Amino acid sequence: YDNRDGKIWMDGQLVDWRDANVHLLTHAMHYASSVFEGERAYNGKIFESRLHSERLLFSGNELDIPIPYTVDEIEAAKYEVMKANNLVDAYVRVLAWRGSGQDMGVASASNPVRMAVAAWEWGAYYGDAKMKGAKLDISKWKRPSPETIPCFAKASGLYMICTMAKHQAEAKGCSDAMMFDHRGYVAEATGANMFFVKDGEVHTPKPDCFLNGITRQTTIKMLERKGITVNERHIMPEELEGFEQCWLTGTAAEVTPVGQIGDYNFEVGAMARDIAESYEKLVRE
Ligand code: PMP
Repeated sequence: YDNRDGKIWMDGQLVDWRDANVHLLTHAMHYASSVFEGERAYNGKIFESRLHSERLLFSGNELDIPIPYTVDEIEAAKYEVMKANNLVDAYVRVLAWRGSGQDMGVASASNPVRMAVAAWEWGAYYGDAKMKGAKLDISKWKRPSPETIPCFAKASGLYMICTMAKHQAEAKGCSDAMMFDHRGYVAEATGANMFFVKDGEVHTPKPDCFLNGITRQTTIKMLERKGITVNERHIMPEELEGFEQCWLTGTAAEVTPVGQIGDYNFEVGAMARDIAESYEKLVRE
């Protein structure tokens, strides 16, 4: 991704894509002191843009990475990048991190906090799984307890677990992995939340130790508007067998039906398709 034409916003200025570099002794490279956002623009408008900027500031705050920009300044930076790269439908990545400074130890309070925004065209996250249903591996890696890390932040450090789970999944021919949480309840996929259908009602894991995704919250509102009951609760692994449909929600994933999780099969059913379609319409309204 580093060798292409275009502009990236870094610390208040647009720089050439190939020049958007940082030094090797950047604190974040060694200690994962960074937080980020993933957003999608449709028809030139970033869906729930302010919520993403607010979540970035929240994440920074949770991880003791005070981001030196306001929501309005972050909003302006994102649209500046979209414009500079002539993007209309795009994925927008905002990253804030501890830079290099006087110290190279774990403590880094005096190191400057930096921010960058990049954007590019990015099609369907799971490719043709949107039509056929994605195949998910069951990961051995678990979402950690809220006592071990600020688990509601979109923190880069948390993604090591996701990367390991997803590599394992891809090695088995799956497009993603479902992870349990530290107590053994069904949690989420590596970059998306999960929904299940049984007897006309929806069941979704209670987000008490992982990201309560913006797409997840949007999906719940859409379901409730359609008069469908949504149960946010702890889901046991043995319940997977009884669910009829399943789908993933996330900014990149949008709404993607799931056809298989380990040995459990799901129908790419009417509700999954309907919610996927409704979401596609909503983001372009
Ligand atoms: N969980 C994880 C681990 C994620 O990376 C994402 C994507 N940000 C989500 C859930 C879904 O969040 P959102 O709908 O806000 O993109």
